[in-house]
Amino acid sequence: MEKRKVFVTRSIPEAGLALLRQQKNVRLIVSPHDRVLTRAELLRGVKGADAILCLLTDKIDGAVMDSAGPQLKGIANYAVGFDNIDLAAAKKRGIWVSNTPGASTNAVAEHAVALLLALMHRLPEADRFVRAGKYKGWAPMLLTGSELPGRTLGIVGVGRIGSALAHRLADGFGLRVVYSDVIRNIQLEKQFKAKRLSLRQLLRQADVVSLHVPLLPSTRHLIGAKELKLMKPTAYLINTSRGPVVDEKALVTALRHQTIAGAGLDVYEFEPKLAPGLAKLNNVILTPHIASATLEARTAMAIMAAKNIIHIIAGKRPPHLAQ
Ligand code: NAD
Repeated sequence: MEKRKVFVTRSIPEAGLALLRQQKNVRLIVSPHDRVLTRAELLRGVKGADAILCLLTDKIDGAVMDSAGPQLKGIANYAVGFDNIDLAAAKKRGIWVSNTPGASTNAVAEHAVALLLALMHRLPEADRFVRAGKYKGWAPMLLTGSELPGRTLGIVGVGRIGSALAHRLADGFGLRVVYSDVIRNIQLEKQFKAKRLSLRQLLRQADVVSLHVPLLPSTRHLIGAKELKLMKPTAYLINTSRGPVVDEKALVTALRHQTIAGAGLDVYEFEPKLAPGLAKLNNVILTPHIASATLEARTAMAIMAAKNIIHIIAGKRPPHLAQ
């Protein structure tokens, strides 16, 4: 039987790799490096592949597809977002592109809640305070934070993750929900009396703004200096979507001048680099793109990506086509 080469750009959880190894018609090649491949390594590694399983840190453009060769049938991204893949180039070449929708919804929604609670209860500051030996006893106003009930949550992008966040914060913490999306979400409106607003209106009203849009030309710098100025000085910004959705330089300025109260960020405009001055600010919490990094989510993502690959090499449309 002729074997199909499947190239995996970096090792993923075993549950996904095991599924691929069980396929008799698959020759599985997993990058031996536990790091992002260099461009030259990527171009070399994909040669002769029928399918590529890649990560959001791999830039997959037409040149990578051509380097693989005309037998390349599909690309399975180990992520929900697929802004790292040139979809137009894939379409032109008749190559399927798939992603892992839903696999990380709980993890990312929980991470957004964690960032918000940590900000409002000043957890990183408090932790640093105790470790530095500054805790000399209970005091009435020591590290006072603020509470969530009765505040307004503004969700930008109410797809899977945005909706999951609404459930957690409206049901669990008593927030009022407003949202902004290019598509109306009637279910959310019914369930939480969520009001659909323009982005400008949302930014003016919300006490917490949480971003859950994909990175598209229309969402790049969706939040810039102008938008940050519309936010309340007491409002928090949470970004677990993609870094370039926020103009990070403008955000540093807003945080430094405290024109907004704080930010919780998991993603960065030029990650892994941070905008100058960002890491020096006290009113921001920074995590290294780990919102989906639960064992549950990463395992589900690996299985989903592997199933997409199995369909692709069988010449069948993958179940989770990126679109
Ligand atoms: P989804 O497709 O279910 O939801 C995205 C929503 O954004 C949709 O409702 C869509 O209509 C809306 N939208 C699109 N353009 C918009 C615009 N210009 N203005 C307002 N709304 C707009 O996707 P999801 O599963 O909820 O994931 C959202 C994003 O989260 C992903 O695209 C990905 O980039 C990011 N993500 C990040 C992590 C992480 O580790 N930090 C993990 C998973 C997903």
